[in-house]
Amino acid sequence: MRLKIYGCRGSYPVSRKEVVFYGGNTTSYLLESKGKKIIIDGGTGIVNLGIDLTKGNPKLSQEISLFITHTHWDHVMGLPFFQPFYGKNFNIKIYGADTETMELNNAIARQLDGHQNFPILFQNLEANIEFSMLSSGQGIELGTMVVSSYQLNHPGRDLGYRFSEDGVSFVVLTDLAPIEDNYLGVGMADAATGNPGEFEKDYINGLLRFIRGADMVIMDTNFTEEEIRGKGHWGHSTPDQAIRLFSNLDNPPALVLAHHDPNHTDGQMHEIFRKARKLGKENNIEVLIAKERGEFRL
Ligand SMILES: [Zn+2]
Ligand SMILES: [Zn+2]
Repeated sequence: MRLKIYGCRGSYPVSRKEVVFYGGNTTSYLLESKGKKIIIDGGTGIVNLGIDLTKGNPKLSQEISLFITHTHWDHVMGLPFFQPFYGKNFNIKIYGADTETMELNNAIARQLDGHQNFPILFQNLEANIEFSMLSSGQGIELGTMVVSSYQLNHPGRDLGYRFSEDGVSFVVLTDLAPIEDNYLGVGMADAATGNPGEFEKDYINGLLRFIRGADMVIMDTNFTEEEIRGKGHWGHSTPDQAIRLFSNLDNPPALVLAHHDPNHTDGQMHEIFRKARKLGKENNIEVLIAKERGEFRL
């Protein structure tokens, strides 16, 4: 498996000289395994990803699986400019959860409404596009790859994904806050009613089962410990919280820090990474960091 980062910024894209090292595009990753092309999220990073895939040749024929974690803008705002949408030989299957108020296909299609949001109508895209709705816990197969999902503690309905093939597993957890702060996901507050302690325990155990045995987890660690105070309900985590979560496992996966706060300069990110690596070492966890155009092999 090979993971390539095309965007790892959280919330909104940024462009200034202080952010060029880690990059300014929002979430989009390309996972390649045994010839399969799997994209995770359509933040602004997907624009360059699409350019790389089409190589300027719109006649190219390709199968793409696009997994949407959730439909907040920073995870879908690059989709209208994703070149494979405009190639008639591209077969694209989009996976994700329905939102609380809208089906996945409508939540995506409204980004390309032909009017207020974008001049081209989703229905007029040239590629063959299919949708597949997933719910938390549901597993699917892509050839010999197994993909499973788990609802994350984040406003709306947001899925983490685990991709496993030939004994290698890669997990995406974005966006999410620790469950002990707030119950943010659709249905979570209801599920916790009456016995929040039991709900939290079950939720954390489920999350740990989801990442147990994985080789690598890329996770939303948007905030520092100082910044997250009073912002637990914003739905993001810190590197320290990720390391605390992983330290419950005997053989923890490598942690890749991502969804970098748009206010963080490269200098601040270097420092966040240095501190997280130190804390990771103390807890026997390998800590890595996402940067645009960076690659990881699993
Ligand atoms: Zn986000
Ligand atoms: Zn979000």
